[in-house]
Amino acid sequence: MTKTVTMARMNSRQRRKLFEQVAARDGLRCQVCNRVGTHLTLILDHRNNIPNDNQLDNLQLLCRRDNYLKNPRRSKNKYVVDQRELSQPRAASAEFVKNSVSEPLFCHFIDATMREDDRILYEEAINSGAQVAGISPVTAKRYLDKLCSKAGPYQVIYDDLADAKFVELKRGPVNLGPHLIGGPKGPKDEA
Ligand SMILES: [Zn+2]
Repeated sequence: MTKTVTMARMNSRQRRKLFEQVAARDGLRCQVCNRVGTHLTLILDHRNNIPNDNQLDNLQLLCRRDNYLKNPRRSKNKYVVDQRELSQPRAASAEFVKNSVSEPLFCHFIDATMREDDRILYEEAINSGAQVAGISPVTAKRYLDKLCSKAGPYQVIYDDLADAKFVELKRGPVNLGPHLIGGPKGPKDEA
């Protein structure tokens, strides 16, 4: 599979190496909330937010939630909540108000995360996204499944090596193969 993701800052091999060094120094835990994580759930973060400052002193591991909350790009939220819509009569429905705030937040979290990484663990996307948006994992799963539906920008794939489900950006029809969960059934992939 060809990688189309361009990482202007560090390539994935450098990233892995630096990740190991930081993990050896600090342990596999988030430096903000202290939550224990894994290679799949922790993000290598630049303390000063300068992406090419890869000195070890400037690197730390964060969980996705804290990485998202720290990220300066968070303010550039393209999912702007329409205040007029909130004042419509149907906004009287608490459920509607809740969705119109939490769903954009959740979507923005997923988008921001996917810009940093080319994939995210499915369960992690639900749990971290739920924390960020202040919703239940059940609601988060509903939002995520929408993003990963036919009309959405993402897809859920099963990675045999990692033995886990991941959310990835759709890469076009070529890659929408048999691993696409809920997608068209195809012959067993030899890869
Ligand atoms: Zn954390």
